Amino acid sequence: MFWARVYILTLTLIQKAQRVIEERRCPLEGCDSNGHLSGKFEKHFTLEACPIYHNTTAEKCRQGMEDRKKREESRKKALEYHKKIT
Ligand SMILES: [Zn+2]
Repeated sequence: MFWARVYILTLTLIQKAQRVIEERRCPLEGCDSNGHLSGKFEKHFTLEACPIYHNTTAEKCRQGMEDRKKREESRKKALEYHKKIT
């Protein structure tokens, strides 16, 4: 009885570990998990964040994030400038 329980417990742990390893990889076939749709991360592990799945590339996503950041900065500067003159 005791050993049966240990056996089941070990099996559950192994299955859990395997699932974690599987989750650390993009499920899309042919995708190497590189890049992230948001451009914020080096890697992705879900289809929602997969650049290839969304017909784009990791490079484009990164570029897009940088462009957004630049726009945000210039917007802030414009706001500050506006505050100064009013
Ligand atoms: Zn992917």
